[in-house]
Amino acid sequence: MRDHRVLRGVTALTLALALLFHGSVLGAPKAAAESISGLKARLSALEEQEAENADRLDALREDASQKRAYRDAMKEKIDIVQQQLDVLIQRIRALDDAILEGEAEIADTKASISANFDKLKDRLKTMYMTGDATTLSILLRSTSLVDYQQKSEVIRAITDHDTALLDTLEADLHSIEDKVEEINAQKYQLGEDKKALDSKSKELSALYEESERLLQEAEANEAEAQAEAERIALEKAETDAAIDQWYAEYYAALEAANKNAAGGVGYIGTGAFVWPMPGYTMITCYFGEDGHRGIDIAGVGIYGKDIVAADAGKVIYAGWMGSYGNCVFIDHGNGYSTRYAHASALAVSEGDEVQIGQTIAYVGSTGNSTGPHLHFEVLYSGSLTDPFNYF
Ligand SMILES: [Zn+2]
Repeated sequence: MRDHRVLRGVTALTLALALLFHGSVLGAPKAAAESISGLKARLSALEEQEAENADRLDALREDASQKRAYRDAMKEKIDIVQQQLDVLIQRIRALDDAILEGEAEIADTKASISANFDKLKDRLKTMYMTGDATTLSILLRSTSLVDYQQKSEVIRAITDHDTALLDTLEADLHSIEDKVEEINAQKYQLGEDKKALDSKSKELSALYEESERLLQEAEANEAEAQAEAERIALEKAETDAAIDQWYAEYYAALEAANKNAAGGVGYIGTGAFVWPMPGYTMITCYFGEDGHRGIDIAGVGIYGKDIVAADAGKVIYAGWMGSYGNCVFIDHGNGYSTRYAHASALAVSEGDEVQIGQTIAYVGSTGNSTGPHLHFEVLYSGSLTDPFNYF
């Protein structure tokens, strides 16, 4: 029931407002440039925009995070292919080395064959110095091992030992040549594999670039929605401030109007107050307590009970007013006015003249209230006074 905190701080009466509302009839002072309903409509439109934008921002964030994951997956694939390429390149290099080695071996073996063949020919020359000239000359004219081998019967006749040596060398040569050929075949296969990986790498790079582009687009959209959220938040804060300002000016204007009405216009109160809340005397908050503007009267079963006019007077306000909720303001015409706040319903209208003790409203908990009670204020010449000065 300590509802009064928000009611503090709006007692100050500005000269400008006093001038602005001088002599005006109470109702809905239009102190602010924009109407309160306009401000509230703007606020609720902004809240709607905020919710929509928040949904959009969530969706865009999700989108960007998916695109980021896809881009990262592409990057990972590219890395794997690059690793495979690195392994292949190393293997190809190793094969190149083996080929060079094999070719050197081939050259060595060929040289060895040639040297042994020359030695054989020298030996034959010596051996057959006096032999069959025709056979010898054929032999000596042999220009290659193949040529020589074709004359196998001659060779067999000469020496099994030397031909065996040459056969071994030749067999070595073939084996080395076969090996080099096999290495070349392997190298060719690896070259094909590398071509496939190169093309896969190119494909992945293109996908990666595309995914990067899409990610940047998604991130830009996200940033844009984020900026929009900030813009809405700012505008909301401005609108909130404008609403606070509107109420501050509204209350100030009411104070001013109260003061102006305090001169008395024919309806003069008795000058003595009756208790405004018949049957209930429990005070849950006194005047001045934490800046309280009036007294709070409460009690079990108070909801809906009659609130009565503390003195005769004229209703200068009856209706809803911000944190007061449903309330009645009465000018007693003798410099005094009283206010009754948080009603569940009102029994009078603005402009009504009321008798002392007349029911003007029913207890409720409207406006800024945490439970049913009557908030009762007494003003003299427009300034708040302690209601207990009068009982
Ligand atoms: Zn109160």
